[in-house]
Amino acid sequence: MSLITLAKALEEAEKGRYALGNFDCFNLEMVKGVLKAAAELQAPVIIAYGEPFIEHIDMPYFTSAVKEMAETANIPVVLHTDHYTKLENIRQAIRYGFTSVMIDSSDKPYEVNVQNTRDAVKLAHESGVSVESELGHVSGLGDIFEDDSHVFTNPETAADFVERTGIDALAVSIGNVHGIYKAEPKLRFDILEKISAMTAVPLVLHGASGIPDEDIKRAVSLGIRKVNYYTDMCAAAAEKIDAEPGRHLFDLCRTIVEECYKAAYKKIQVLK
Ligand SMILES: [Zn+2]
Repeated sequence: MSLITLAKALEEAEKGRYALGNFDCFNLEMVKGVLKAAAELQAPVIIAYGEPFIEHIDMPYFTSAVKEMAETANIPVVLHTDHYTKLENIRQAIRYGFTSVMIDSSDKPYEVNVQNTRDAVKLAHESGVSVESELGHVSGLGDIFEDDSHVFTNPETAADFVERTGIDALAVSIGNVHGIYKAEPKLRFDILEKISAMTAVPLVLHGASGIPDEDIKRAVSLGIRKVNYYTDMCAAAAEKIDAEPGRHLFDLCRTIVEECYKAAYKKIQVLK
C-alpha cells in the first residue's frame, strides 16, 4: 500500500480503539523487520526517523526506500519524523514525502512551544501532512524523579495547547521516559484520564520500551493511540549480535531484520 497520513491512521485507530506501533528505524534492515511483523499481523504501522538519523542515512534515500517497501507491504504505513527540533528539517521531510512530522519544543517555555508547533502545523497542513507535538517533557535519561510534576503534562494546559496549535496528535508525559528505565516505571493514569477528557486529539506515549504490557493496554484503554518503541528493539538485535561474535557482516544484517521483526511482532500484539 502507499503511505498514509498519521491523521488518517489515527482516525481508524480511534474507531477500533487500538493503538498504532511507532518504531524508530535508522537502517533498512530495521524497516524490513518491522514491516514484516506488521504485515503478518495486518496492523497499520508507523516507521519513524529521528533527527540524528539524518547523519546516518540521508533523508531522500531513506524516504524513497521506505515508500517502495510500503508499496509491497500490503498494510497502511505512516512515514513520520520523530522529535524534530528544526523547522528546516521538517520542511525537507515534507518535501521528500513524509506523511507525518513530529515537532518537539517540549523543553522550551510554553509560548515558544506553542509558536514552534503552530509554525510546523502551518507548513505541514499546507501539504496534507500530519503533525504530532509534545507537551510536558519526556526525559531522555531513563531517570525517574520522586516529584515529576514539572515534567508531567498538565491537562488544562494540554487543552489550550491543542486548541491553539491545531495538532493531529499530542505526546504526553505521564511518568514515561526515553531509554532504559532506572526504576520501575509508574504511569500516572489519573493524569492521562484527565488529558483524555479535556482534549479531542489522539494521544501518544513515548518511551514505551520497559513499560509492562498491562500498563500499555491500560493506557490504550484511556486514549493512547500511538505507542513509540525503539530501545527494546535495538537492545534485542545488539544482544543477539554480541552473543555470537565473529560472524560475517551479511549474517549480522540478517540478524537485525529477524530481531526487529520479533520485537515489533510482540509489541504490536499488545496494541491490538
Ligand atoms: Zn520519543
